[in-house]
Amino acid sequence: MNGARPRPSRPHLLYPGDPGYDEARAVWNAMHDRRPVCVARCRTAEEVSDALRFAVANGHPVTVRGGGHNVAGAAVADDAVMIDLSPMRGVLVDAGAKVAHADGGCLLRDVDAATVRYGLACPAGVVSHTGLGGLALGGGYGWLARTWGPTCDHILAAQVVLPDGSIVEATDAEHPELLWALRGGGGGNFGVVTRFTLRLRPVGPLYHYVAQYPPATAARALAAYRSFAERQPDNLHVVGALKRLPGAAPDGGGVVLRLSGAYFGDPQDGPARIAPLLDAAPPETATGRVISYLELQGMGDLSEPHGHRYYTKSGYLTGLPDEAVASMLSGAREMPSTLSSIDFEYLRGAIARLPEHDGAFPNRDAPYIVTASAQWTDPAHDEENVAWTRRAVRSLSGSRMPGAYVNYVQDEEWAPPDIYGEQRLRRLAAVKRVYDPDDVLRGGRIPAAARPTTSASEGT
Ligand SMILES: Cc1cc2nc3c(=O)[nH]c(=O)nc-3n(C[C@H](O)[C@H](O)[C@H](O)COP(=O)(O)OP(=O)(O)OC[C@H]3O[C@@H](n4cnc5c(N)ncnc54)[C@H](O)[C@@H]3O)c2cc1C
Repeated sequence: MNGARPRPSRPHLLYPGDPGYDEARAVWNAMHDRRPVCVARCRTAEEVSDALRFAVANGHPVTVRGGGHNVAGAAVADDAVMIDLSPMRGVLVDAGAKVAHADGGCLLRDVDAATVRYGLACPAGVVSHTGLGGLALGGGYGWLARTWGPTCDHILAAQVVLPDGSIVEATDAEHPELLWALRGGGGGNFGVVTRFTLRLRPVGPLYHYVAQYPPATAARALAAYRSFAERQPDNLHVVGALKRLPGAAPDGGGVVLRLSGAYFGDPQDGPARIAPLLDAAPPETATGRVISYLELQGMGDLSEPHGHRYYTKSGYLTGLPDEAVASMLSGAREMPSTLSSIDFEYLRGAIARLPEHDGAFPNRDAPYIVTASAQWTDPAHDEENVAWTRRAVRSLSGSRMPGAYVNYVQDEEWAPPDIYGEQRLRRLAAVKRVYDPDDVLRGGRIPAAARPTTSASEGT
């Protein structure tokens, strides 16, 4: 030992032409082929601070990559510095306190793997390769949201690196407005979250079932779902997807409905809880079994691979009247790609229990969310797939309610006031002015200068 102080570590910078640059700038949705000035791979909050100071000193805007899943490609921009948190995936669990400390670059599977060994989980999304960062900062719907609330309701505190390079802890006592903004909806507009402190909930084996309906009975099953979902207990969550069968010509029928449910009470009671739905609309095939929470969380992984082309359009619905059911079925018949789907779920439960004004996360009252999710591989089919998603959701306009879920918003189709409402947006923009007045952090939807205007009409 010579007493020399260890040299502070630096982020690993990848420039165009460097080995690894192209892999590092690629995000989940292959529609976004953008070229950042450089990618700064960070392992610690200090390295993130270093990367932010470097970007600001050189006049570059910054984007942050959590899991890279954002459908709009918010993690990457031309001519910006991309702060890549993917080397930061550690999780520490305090099982006694039911709290996890998760690094800002964690994927959902990192958090689940660390917590379930203690019989605990933080409610999150349904695909385990999604990033915790973007999901939690935008809201976070998933299997447990009706039981316990979205992921953002579980953020107890956050370590945040601000654009000036300072590292702060946002808690209810320190930087409370920043914490409010991070708790859902605000996204990565204010700073880089290098560590989340998350409240955990008990989980154990659960009852899971899948029921499939052919074209002839899909409409009846959707009507049965409507009356069942609105009366189900909060610890049961049933989601639906309409798909077009491979081989079936667009507009020629061949639509199947798949309903999947998870019951978080005593698994032995699961079949009885589901029975009213299955009795009202007997499926063509159905399977039910007791599974682990980790198995549930990995079930969606294969159907949404990295590197395909995606476009989604989503909206909240006040209900699922017969006209909406008919529109969803005809939308499904017309989907150009059989990799696509129309997904829907009944929300409410614990999501709606927190009063609307208590958090940054908007639209808590929305009963249903419906998303047309186009997935394809050939760029030659971009236009028809994008047009299909827009058409499919536009056809539901009779049942739409105002608002949008920021994590499913793509392109500029929604103006910020449409997503957040004028009042909440004003408060979010005030937080932005304090913490990122020069709009260094891009990728979020909160404008640097708050000019909430009359809500722009939704794009076509
Ligand atoms: C296959 C798939 C499944 C999904 N399933 C669900 C679901 O079940 N429920 C649901 O609610 N949503 C779901 N989503 C949507 C998802 O919540 C958003 O795409 C979210 O943005 C993904 O976060 P990410 O970190 O992977 O994304 P990224 O693209 O890396 O980041 C998204 C945004 O968040 C910011 N950000 C990310 N991490 C940080 C951080 N640590 N600090 C500051 N800013 C940060 C980025 O700057 C960017 O603006 C899904 C998306 C996909 C692609």
